[in-house]
Amino acid sequence: MHYHIILTTQCNSQCKYCYEKSMNDFDVDIEKKVSLDLSAPETSIVNINKLKKFVGRDKNPVLIFYGGEPLLQINKIKEIMDNIEVPYRMQTNGKLLGKLPIEYLKRIDKILVSIDGNKEKTDENRGKGTYKLLMKNVSLIKQKGYKGEIIARMTLGENSPDIYEQVLHLIGIGFSSIHWQIDAGFYAHDFDKQKFSLFVNEYNNSITKLIDYWIENMKNKRVLKFYPFIGIVDSLLKNEKTKLRCGAGHSGYAIRTDGKLMACPIMTWIGDFISGDLDSNPDNLKEFPMADRCRNCNIKFICGGRCLYWNYLKLWPEEGNQLICNTIEHLVNSLKNRIPEIKKLISEDLVSYKDFEYEKYFGPEIIP
Ligand code: SF4
Ligand code: SF4
Repeated sequence: MHYHIILTTQCNSQCKYCYEKSMNDFDVDIEKKVSLDLSAPETSIVNINKLKKFVGRDKNPVLIFYGGEPLLQINKIKEIMDNIEVPYRMQTNGKLLGKLPIEYLKRIDKILVSIDGNKEKTDENRGKGTYKLLMKNVSLIKQKGYKGEIIARMTLGENSPDIYEQVLHLIGIGFSSIHWQIDAGFYAHDFDKQKFSLFVNEYNNSITKLIDYWIENMKNKRVLKFYPFIGIVDSLLKNEKTKLRCGAGHSGYAIRTDGKLMACPIMTWIGDFISGDLDSNPDNLKEFPMADRCRNCNIKFICGGRCLYWNYLKLWPEEGNQLICNTIEHLVNSLKNRIPEIKKLISEDLVSYKDFEYEKYFGPEIIP
């Protein structure tokens, strides 16, 4: 099982789609939809021995450092790593990446770093100077000998449907693993039908171009790790049915700052999603089924339902949610159409089935 351990809810960034939007969402009557539980402290008070016993009961535990910004709690990271021997991952905004001693960093095999594309886009969303600082920190840890996987984690807002251009920029500056998430449906106040419809059109066209580029690279024996693509293609090649692809509420849980186990690292303040605690048996955590609105969808076993949080809270009107599903259908169907070509490249030994395999549930949600 994968566990996001929330070390703090504090963050040293004030990003457009996170800090700024959550400020504007304050007046929404969310408590009418869910039971709120705001009792957890800001910083983790999880007892290390209890945590150690809990992960010891799991057959395959992976801990993912998460926040807020996890690197604001470097001492807690060290304390956990000094006492618990499991695979580690981290999701960070990257601003303090150089501060964790390299011997700890080297044990974190996969690090998701938030970056939205080029300097202009990243700084517009995440604050002036962010891009330069991230690039400096990423090269610093590589110089120090970090050899793990660094995944560029992009968030696409209405201002950035140009996924093709932005991904190519990230490839050009040395990233080879990329994931993206569309910032849509996560806040109540930000649905604008006209603007979002425009985004969907441009984004879908850009995805088509990016798939072409991805497959062209395969002809040169290179499968770029674009997580939304490899996740879907891996399932199509294996004829595999998927549950919710981020793992929330079936294969991944978040350990809240007070030690409660939550179905998802984002919705730690929703009481309905408490799934257990550190005394629980990891095999018996509360599970969450696929959402009702996905049951009749003909790509439900490839999509998996996008997001538990989004489907549960339904913060956007259904016409907005349909537009989001339109992007998923376009992505899935475009990749489906290319499967014969990919199979041909496999039969010619240019790429192999293995190239599309990946570790599930450590951070990339696969469906944007
Ligand atoms: S495409 Fe939309 S309706 Fe279909 S399974 Fe995914 S989220 Fe659900
Ligand atoms: S996709 Fe949704 S349910 Fe899954 S981890 Fe992200 S916010 Fe949570």
